Amino acid sequence: MIVTRFAPSPNGSLHLGHAYSAICAHDLAREEGGQFLLRIEDIDGTRSRPELADEFREDLKWLGLDWDEVPAQSRRLETYQAAAQQLKSDGLLYPCSCTRAEIEAASTMRGAEGPIYPGTCRGGKADLTKPHCWRLDLERALAKTGLLEWYDVYRGVQQAQPQLLGDVIIMRKEEPASYHLAATLDDAADGVTLVTRGSDLFAATHIHRLLQALLDLPVPRWHHHGLLMDESGKKLAKRRGSPSLADRRKSGEDGALLAQQLRLQRLPVGISLQNP
Ligand code: GLU
Repeated sequence: MIVTRFAPSPNGSLHLGHAYSAICAHDLAREEGGQFLLRIEDIDGTRSRPELADEFREDLKWLGLDWDEVPAQSRRLETYQAAAQQLKSDGLLYPCSCTRAEIEAASTMRGAEGPIYPGTCRGGKADLTKPHCWRLDLERALAKTGLLEWYDVYRGVQQAQPQLLGDVIIMRKEEPASYHLAATLDDAADGVTLVTRGSDLFAATHIHRLLQALLDLPVPRWHHHGLLMDESGKKLAKRRGSPSLADRRKSGEDGALLAQQLRLQRLPVGISLQNP
């Protein structure tokens, strides 16, 4: 059975781009009699606003979607810790005490998520008296897994290229897990068979595929859909003034009609859909 999910982070209200993403995941599941899951990704304790989860549920209902909800990330911390512990025992993680500014200054390559970590703390060089995160030793990880592939519905078979992101953070300084670790473990635990999300997270999948191999997790397929863009060609964002779904809902707009328009790609003036 197909299982898809919508996994919003409660650090800002949802906007049209989220609605499009949720509708894609919902419809892909429903077309085949499958299951559509809602997972609140509230791992980021400093930015999460718990009250937004209720707003999200209201937004999805307003759009005419129905779902099964799985536990939020804040309730799964032990699972993340156990997996990180396994990676540590396998010698695949190392502590890193570099600050963002130090990494910016030392990095010579920009990757899909910003500067590629230059490896300063690799080989036990972290200052453990300072706050530190734990990073994946990519070279060792790749030596263990060999070449990997994954399947994207639009782009077909992909050769996993985690080098595009480098030695990513697995356990953050202030949190027990990074997005990469938490989302990968959650999708496996939730039985997700088709990971549906925006193409802005395409590169992250290279790392997720690697983590699946390292942690012996099932491998789903991926559907990275196109993003809704504003007049200036930038991804919709609340901070650039895209109205939130909650504002639209409260102004009396018909949510089911909006969802229908999004399905037909009849987009509001000034908004366009970028190819995935
Ligand atoms: N929580 C992420 C976000 O709100 C989505 C992660 C995912 O779909 O894998 O951008």
